[in-house]
Amino acid sequence: MTLAAKVYIVGAGPGDPELITVKGLRILQQADVVLYTDSLVREELVQMASEHAQIYKSAGMDLEEIVQIMAGHVREGRSVARIHTGDPAVYGAILEQMALLRKENIEYEIIPGVSSVFASAAILGAELTIPDLTQTLILTRVGGRTPVPEREQLRSLAEHHCTIALYLSATLAKKAVDDLSAAGWSPDTPVAVVQKATWPEQKVIRTTLEHLVRAMGDAHISSHAMILAGWALDPGLAESTEHRSKLYDKTFTHRYRKGVAMHD
Ligand code: SAH
Repeated sequence: MTLAAKVYIVGAGPGDPELITVKGLRILQQADVVLYTDSLVREELVQMASEHAQIYKSAGMDLEEIVQIMAGHVREGRSVARIHTGDPAVYGAILEQMALLRKENIEYEIIPGVSSVFASAAILGAELTIPDLTQTLILTRVGGRTPVPEREQLRSLAEHHCTIALYLSATLAKKAVDDLSAAGWSPDTPVAVVQKATWPEQKVIRTTLEHLVRAMGDAHISSHAMILAGWALDPGLAESTEHRSKLYDKTFTHRYRKGVAMHD
C-alpha cells in the first residue's frame, strides 16, 4: 500500500524503536518526508525512514514553520510523517498543528502510539487498575508555569485515591507531594518514577510519598520522567493474594462459565 499525499501524525512510542505500531513503522518507512523533535525521538527509529526521505529536525522550529514545510510537501504530492513521542493525543500539542493544517486545506491522519505511562507501567511490572483497590487511572500534570484548570488541581483529583500518573512534573515533585498529602494520602503511599523509559539511559526509582523528593534528587531526575503514585504501585502486591481479580476467583469463574462474557 502506498501512502497518500497528506500528513501522518505518528505516535512513536516512548523510545524503544520496537514500540512503534506496525502501521506507524510502515508509514515511517514509506514517507517521502519525516519531521521529528530530535531530543524526544530516538535516532534509531528515525534511521528506519526510507533512504530517499527528506528528514527535518523540528526542535528549533516554530509551529508556523513546521506547518509550512509539511503543507508545501503535501501540495507537491508527497507523504509526510510527523513523528510525536508516546501517543500524540497526550500532551502532544497537536491541536494547533491540526488547526493550521486545516486552514491550509491539508489532509492529515493520526496514528496512535504507546504513551510513556504504559511503557513505565510495563517496566515496573505494575497493573494500574487493581480489583478492589482502584479501578481508575488519572493522567495529569502538576500545575506550574503551564497552569492546570482550577477544578483539576492535583489536590482535588487525589481525593479519588486512585492511581495517578504525572506527566511533565519532574521539577514539581515537591508540589505533587504537598497536594497528595493535603488530599489525605499517607506518607508511605508507594510512588515510582521512570526517567527515559525504554531509552538506554533509563532510570527507575521506587519510593514512597514522603521520600519522593529526596529520592529524585539523589537519582538526579529533573526531566523526562513519569511519576506514578498510588497503592497499585505497591511492590508487595505481587506476593499478596488479597487483591487478585475476582475473575480468577473459583466461584466467580464458575458463575461466568455459563456463557456470559467475562469482559464487559
Ligand atoms: N505524548 C507523550 C507525552 C509528551 S509530554 C506520551 O504519550 O508519553 C512529555 C512528558 O511525557 C515528559 O515530561 C514525561 O513526563 C513523559 N514522557 C515522555 N516520554 C517518556 C519516557 N520515555 N519516559 C518517561 N517519561 C516520558
